[in-house]
Amino acid sequence: MRALFGGTFNPVHQGHIALARQVRAAFELDSVAFIPSFHSVHRTQPQATAGQREHMLRIALQPFPELVVDSCELQRQGPSFTVDTLRALKQAAPRQDLCWLMGVDAFNGFADWHRPDEILQLANLIVCARPGVALQAGRFAEHFLAGDEQLTDFDAGRIALFDMSPSPCSSTRIRHQLAQGETAADCLPPAVLEFIHQQSLYR
Ligand code: ATP
Repeated sequence: MRALFGGTFNPVHQGHIALARQVRAAFELDSVAFIPSFHSVHRTQPQATAGQREHMLRIALQPFPELVVDSCELQRQGPSFTVDTLRALKQAAPRQDLCWLMGVDAFNGFADWHRPDEILQLANLIVCARPGVALQAGRFAEHFLAGDEQLTDFDAGRIALFDMSPSPCSSTRIRHQLAQGETAADCLPPAVLEFIHQQSLYR
């Protein structure tokens, strides 16, 4: 199973890294690919450029060889629809099972993503707990794994809820802290913090 972790990563923080490392260990995956979005259709445009967000990811993940960056959405440009990314990956390797990682806040908006049902035909989902956010399974409730089922037994269409150890980090909070002149050092990898200062980002 190939694990894909999409996001704006504006900037990448310790919560993202913890999520990927814990999912990789729990599901015994070889690696997790971080996929920075070029233009996230659900958000206003990020303040750091795509190149800066990608660079921050690369320096943050450098100590973890099992965490890699896949720049396919940056190269494709235009709106970053997850369904397009999954289609392209499936076309390139039809027999490779895919799973898409996300936090529960992102999942709660999944019904509004572009073609969510097709996403579930192409991949499984791993939905990770996030402090203070309750799961709203909505119309996808039937896709969640039953007690004795394993995600790896399904090629696609199933959703696993993963109870990761809670991380309070959030990119919005970090940007807000930096804009107020606070350090945000508790949630930022040191190399990312240094880059942010060098580039005068999020002031
Ligand atoms: P923002 O605060 O601006 O919403 P973010 O911290 O959620 O940003 P994104 O790049 O939007 O960062 O997140 C990418 C993915 O990581 C999303 O699926 C999000 O739910 C998940 N995620 C981010 N932070 C955490 C966290 N602390 N715990 C669990 N999941 C997280």
